[in-house]
Amino acid sequence: MTTALLWLRRDLRLTDHPALIAACERHERVLPVYIHAPDEDAPWSPGAASRWWLHHSLKALGDSLKAIGAPLIIREGDSLTSLRALIKETDASAVYWSRLYEPTAIARDTRVKEALRSDEIEAESFNSALLFEPWTLKTLSGEPYRVFTPFWRNASARLHSPVPLAAPEHISAPKKLPKSLPLDALNLLPKIPWAGGFTPRWQPGEAGAFIALNEFCEERMPDYKEARDIPSLDATSSLSPHLHFGEISPRQIIARAQAQAASDDAPGMLAGSEHFAREIGWREFAHHLLFHYPKTPDEPMYASKFGRFPWRKRGESINDLEAWQRGQTGIPIVDAGMRQLWTTGYMHNRVRMIVASLLTKNLLIPWQDGAHWFWDTLVDASLANNTLGWQWVAGCGADAAPYYRIFNPVLQSAKFDPHGIYLRRWVPELAALPDKDLHAPWEKPALLAGTGYPKPIVDLADSRVRALAAYEAIKGTD
Ligand code: FAD
Repeated sequence: MTTALLWLRRDLRLTDHPALIAACERHERVLPVYIHAPDEDAPWSPGAASRWWLHHSLKALGDSLKAIGAPLIIREGDSLTSLRALIKETDASAVYWSRLYEPTAIARDTRVKEALRSDEIEAESFNSALLFEPWTLKTLSGEPYRVFTPFWRNASARLHSPVPLAAPEHISAPKKLPKSLPLDALNLLPKIPWAGGFTPRWQPGEAGAFIALNEFCEERMPDYKEARDIPSLDATSSLSPHLHFGEISPRQIIARAQAQAASDDAPGMLAGSEHFAREIGWREFAHHLLFHYPKTPDEPMYASKFGRFPWRKRGESINDLEAWQRGQTGIPIVDAGMRQLWTTGYMHNRVRMIVASLLTKNLLIPWQDGAHWFWDTLVDASLANNTLGWQWVAGCGADAAPYYRIFNPVLQSAKFDPHGIYLRRWVPELAALPDKDLHAPWEKPALLAGTGYPKPIVDLADSRVRALAAYEAIKGTD
């Protein structure tokens, strides 16, 4: 009788789980374990919204595992020490896990693998989070891709029809089980009553991921290409937190979208599925970039040039940063996004770009400050995607928007929310204003009076000129 530990981290599902299947095929007994070790992820240990999600996702996974015969053992502390203790307690001869791609996780996992192997324990990791391993996709000259279009051309050409793995019907756990902490002992839920708006919006866990995927493919995919940019519509998949916690794999998503497109000839279905796959491709690109450029969560990819960017000093900009965080900038589309984020743990992609542009360009506040706020408040906070998103908007990363392309939040608002449906939902102070005045209410002081809504903290035209001048200061340097 041999026993394997299945070390779960951000692969909190039973389907399409190569490490779980290998453990069940190669060993008579399998014990799933989750070790809470936030210090090992410092300085990017999970933020408050992610911890909320993690709590509920672990609860859902524990219930699913129990239904097929195994408990989820929860421990807290140093990963290697905890694994060694569990190996001793269960007499396990193997530890299997799914690979992660953040620099601190890679360093930790390498150390764990070497240490376990030196203990003569079989230690093996598997790919369950990506379509392709980052080291398998390179340009013709053998370099990592830094531009998305050729990256996705290469990746999608290799992406035939993925066949996801089924969940095991039963897991035989060891007869004598080691002790487990109760989930509540991890203290993942917020101490203040802040996450109340998350509960109606989300269903963390594998079942919730599949509900979101099926609803999206059946109902929204045909219109995805056009509707995905409209923040008032529920037109996207809402799969980002499920993907982040590995409650579903990108292979499963691609397979389901392809199957829908093959069996359903609704107008727009094929184009929708292809565009949707392309967005999954952006996630893949972000993870490959993080693997190849591990300093980018903290430093611009083009560090020698953008490292000299003349950001405003913290003492001078702190009030503006706080107004941005609280959704009190006086620019409705920005405040709507920041309030949606605070209330639901999520912000629409178009609005993420607008709020990030205001922070980095009009307010000249470093993109890292915005990335940290998102990190703490997004339920889908992902080091790879967040880094790519912020560096893209700030103009300092791979395949980034050119710096001189500064989003005009008033024009963006009028274009993507012309009737103010999104604005009125999140900025109710302005609900009574006519549609045409909603996007720049400061232009009609009489309408703004008495609403309690602030005047803009920054003049959009002047700050645009200031941002372009700041760019000129580093232009031409390498
Ligand atoms: P859909 O439109 O349904 O897309 C499907 C999936 O594709 C998403 O779940 C996501 O995994 C992936 N995807 C879509 N767009 C992108 C993109 N631009 N970059 C990378 N992957 C993408 N996404 C995160 O998952 N975590 C983050 O921390 C994050 N931070 C961001 C910060 C900024 C400044 C910006 C501009 C974007 C950020 N994004 C982030 C990307 C994007 O906003 C979200 O992935 C998307 O809004 C999630 O909603 P959805 O699942 O309904 O997306």
